[in-house]
Amino acid sequence: MPEKTATTKNARVFFALWPNVATRSRLFKISKQLPDNQGRLIGAENLHLTLCFIGEIDQMQLQVFTRAAEDVISEPFALALDRLGYFARTRVLWLGSDHTPAALLALVKNLNKTLRHCGYKSETRPFKPHVTLMRKARPLATLPDFKPVSWNIIGFVLAQSLLQQTGVCYRILKEYKFAC
Ligand code: ATP
Ligand code: MG
Repeated sequence: MPEKTATTKNARVFFALWPNVATRSRLFKISKQLPDNQGRLIGAENLHLTLCFIGEIDQMQLQVFTRAAEDVISEPFALALDRLGYFARTRVLWLGSDHTPAALLALVKNLNKTLRHCGYKSETRPFKPHVTLMRKARPLATLPDFKPVSWNIIGFVLAQSLLQQTGVCYRILKEYKFAC
């Protein structure tokens, strides 16, 4: 029998802000207020905000990145999710913020910098913080009113993306908590 190649052990991973149960349910409440748009609503359990998308890496790289992210520091901060928007290119309806907190920008910058030192080729496009609520969405003529969500950010996670028959699901590989 041939030996398993490194490729078979590759993982598709990303760093993200991961809502707790209460925040997740508030976010999903907003999703449910969206008009029927023939798009695909993201399940409550899959809602998140990507900080840094890594993509497919082997177990060795995964170990290095997992460890390196422990050096990324931040203070807890609040993120107000108060704005609905639409990315026409990817047909994504999203929830974001009118004012991205400086702490969030600093966190992403630090994360990218730390990972770059370990060989990560960081994203060149500007960071647009958002929680994807619906995919394959059509643009909405009017956006519904909704109650903004104040999300207390006390850390971030490394998540693995797994493609299953029922669609994508995510597995938390590691949680990183900010020192208070
Ligand atoms: P699917 O691709 O099955 O529709 P998904 O996009 O949620 O599901 P992934 O493609 O594994 O799953 O992506 C995981 C996260 O990383 C998502 O938040 C996705 O928007 C984000 N992401 C994926 N590709 C990129 C990329 N090239 N640049 C930035 N973020 C990305
Ligand atoms: Mg994707």
